[in-house]
Amino acid sequence: MARAAKAVIDLAALKHNYLLAKSLSSGNKAVAIIKANAYGHGAVVVARYLADVADAFGVACIEEALELRAAGIEQPIALLEGFFTADELELIEQHRFITAVHSQWQIDAIAASSIKTPIQVWVKFDSGMHRLGFNAEGFASAIAQLQSLPQVASLVAMTHFACADELESDYTETQIANFHAACDQFGLPVCMANSAATLHWPQTHGDWVRPGIMLYGASPLDQKTDAADQLKTVMTLSSALIAVRELPAGEPIGYGRRFVTTEPTRVGVVAMGYADGYPRHAKDGTPVAVNGQMTRVIGKVSMDMMTVDLTNQPDAKVGDPVELWGAQVDINEVAACADTISYSLYTGITNRVPRIYS
Ligand SMILES: *Cc1c(COP(=O)(O)O)cnc(C)c1O
Repeated sequence: MARAAKAVIDLAALKHNYLLAKSLSSGNKAVAIIKANAYGHGAVVVARYLADVADAFGVACIEEALELRAAGIEQPIALLEGFFTADELELIEQHRFITAVHSQWQIDAIAASSIKTPIQVWVKFDSGMHRLGFNAEGFASAIAQLQSLPQVASLVAMTHFACADELESDYTETQIANFHAACDQFGLPVCMANSAATLHWPQTHGDWVRPGIMLYGASPLDQKTDAADQLKTVMTLSSALIAVRELPAGEPIGYGRRFVTTEPTRVGVVAMGYADGYPRHAKDGTPVAVNGQMTRVIGKVSMDMMTVDLTNQPDAKVGDPVELWGAQVDINEVAACADTISYSLYTGITNRVPRIYS
């Protein structure tokens, strides 16, 4: 038999999560964010599966958008950072991509282009994240210029939140107020909400929402909420035991001897490592499930293997299943034990791990 490491992806759960985003935003249009290979879940498969329900897809760059068109995806596709070079405008026109516009140079490039079929533009306002977008003074001018261009068919006003996952923070409300102060006068359709805002800040729902991480079933929120509790886990990362060892007390396990047994310890070796995308920084104690029973990582994660505590599983044996994250092992807990976030874990799963769709 082959190496057991695999990522099983529950597409029905993904569709449930997309429809949850739509229902939370009372039937708004929702851009399913499938950049970075759908956060590691496989962009083409995800897009095909959502094609009958999704209003649009969102990606990070034209390469990702072209991959979807080549696979026969006909939905609107939004380039969330717009184009990086002016020569992309021809493809944007040809494939009817929606482009974000966040900088003056992009307006200049559109104005200078020979686009004949006008394109859809989502013009980005910087409401306080200070990454991309026009500030309050620049925004009015950007809108006026874009509205005057024959190359532009329509505009949507968009912004992005820095702290929508922090439910106690008042910064989201500051950003919302900044957005309304600068944008309301233009009467444009509005697109503000990422997953966290879709789940928790209804006043941001506007005309379009942009759910990403919630599609994959992981809550971005720093607290539990009823809405987030309705998410269904999409990916189960699993593998199997390839060896079971008995160590006496006082013996180290793995590189650097980080973990040392304090009692006679049954150790399981799992075919999963950082070359699969499992986080190398996972601490001793990171949760993992063997045979459906919760236990912990002990010892540093190596490239192709990791070690887990089986002391409470005297019957565990080679071949037994191990869940690294999924319905039983919360990816957010694994992420916290590795000082990272679910987004980074999902997008870090490497090609060595087969994706299996169910
Ligand atoms: C990635 C991204 C999103 C989705 O964010 P999530 O936190 O995954 O929901 C939304 N909008 C923009 C502009 C993005 O780049």
